[in-house]
Amino acid sequence: MSEQFDVIVIGGGPAGYHAAIRAAQLGLKTACIDSWVGPDGKAALGGTCLNVGCIPSKAMLDSSKQFWNLQHSFGVHGISVKDAKIDVGTMVGRKDKIVKQFTGGVAMLFKANKITSFLGTGKLLKGRQVEITAPDGTKKTIAATNVVIATGSAPIELPFAKFDGKRIVDNAGALDFKDIPKRLGVIGAGVIGLELGSVWKRLGSDVTILEALPDFLGVADAEVAKVAAREFAKQGLKIELGAKLSKAEIKGNEVHLTYAGKDGEKTLVVDQLLVAVGRRAFTEGLLGDDTGVKLDERGRVVVDDHCWAGVEGVWAVGDCVRGPMLAHKGFEEGMAVAEIIAGKAGHVNLETIPWVIYTEPEIAWVGKTEAQCKAENIPFKTGSFPFAAVGRAVAMNEPAGFVKIIAHAETDRILGAHLVGANVSELVSECVVAMEFKGSAEDLARIVHAHPTLSEAVHEAALSVDKRSIHKAN
Ligand code: FAD
Repeated sequence: MSEQFDVIVIGGGPAGYHAAIRAAQLGLKTACIDSWVGPDGKAALGGTCLNVGCIPSKAMLDSSKQFWNLQHSFGVHGISVKDAKIDVGTMVGRKDKIVKQFTGGVAMLFKANKITSFLGTGKLLKGRQVEITAPDGTKKTIAATNVVIATGSAPIELPFAKFDGKRIVDNAGALDFKDIPKRLGVIGAGVIGLELGSVWKRLGSDVTILEALPDFLGVADAEVAKVAAREFAKQGLKIELGAKLSKAEIKGNEVHLTYAGKDGEKTLVVDQLLVAVGRRAFTEGLLGDDTGVKLDERGRVVVDDHCWAGVEGVWAVGDCVRGPMLAHKGFEEGMAVAEIIAGKAGHVNLETIPWVIYTEPEIAWVGKTEAQCKAENIPFKTGSFPFAAVGRAVAMNEPAGFVKIIAHAETDRILGAHLVGANVSELVSECVVAMEFKGSAEDLARIVHAHPTLSEAVHEAALSVDKRSIHKAN
């Protein structure tokens, strides 16, 4: 008979490991199957986020920011450094060490919580049985009362620009370049393209980002996108909008790109090409016959508001289901499902999930944009405040950007917050908390904010909703 568990989680990324740890905390006998193998050939829990996503990209963004600041920002403080150099091997090595620390940390947490960990690929069979194929091809079947699918996502590959891992790469490849590409092409001006494009630009690459859509960062607030575009242009990041790639040919050490631009067909020659056109749910080979689990037209597991997959005891969370492909969304879904399985109330509010782009300046938002309010006929008012008028931001030499709060015109309830500037990845949390507690702009405006801090921009933006900002003309 198959070994029996209360919960089997397929996938040990952010969504899966949160589900597994929370289930084990609640006293459920839990197993997690994950297929990720690290560069040392051993299991590396943590999925995309820890191995080739959130954490390694932030490590590289931080290293490259230090190098950039050394060359471009230290002068204003009276600090000069001659002949600054970067050793890419050391930088990538630091990133790898951080990744190992965190993937190992998840393994330790699994051990501490007595979670049975299987290295291999899981396939859901009928009747909540899961077949595991180990890396050496051996198979075994385990069973559970509940199965949580958390198989995540994979980069989308363009048929005319196939990844070769060297010249044409995905996010994993762009985090592991051995040398700084002299000319780097990036396809897609989304979160990943902007972040990884910024890393290599700061290190000295000539970076060109081609974006098929006519608007820059169409998902963000239009004013935020405008400020970000201006700041990126100042940094020398070239972003061409309305540029549709049709061909990428590797010729020797170069990649020759052909694309339809605003003024007709164009060509661009680069040394390396990062294709960052989005990610797709990773569900191939996941389902056996007659499981009853449905996939939508984008290969995502179809779930209801509580991540239930429509079959008794089967759930799905994270990037492999609807909603934003963000690690923290997966964390919350994983924990919520574990709690529901244990008979508790688990819920995730998709309306208050913060988005962050860790460029310079950082970009962050939560809730609705002005455009969405208009499209949905929601009456709204806005208040904004520039970092250029925040003492701390100026003292830090980071005056770019602003905070904007959108509130309902009649109830004053906060509908959205849009931030661009230094450390807004941290500042957005305050807005999320306010929205989660159904707070009003008045609530934020009456909360004492420490002086001098960047958070004063949030305070002043909230005051400005009611035209009573102190440090700017209303
Ligand atoms: P994944 O992290 O993809 O994990 C799924 C796991 O399941 C993997 O380990 C996979 O090997 C395993 N698996 C798949 N199929 C099977 C199977 N059949 N059997 C066993 N195991 C299987 N998000 C943020 O919130 N903040 C960021 O700053 C951020 N930065 C990012 C930067 C980059 C470069 C990238 C690529 C992504 C970034 N993301 C970020 C997105 C984030 O990484 C994902 O949203 C998150 O990892 C999704 O978690 P998940 O658990 O759903 O899936």
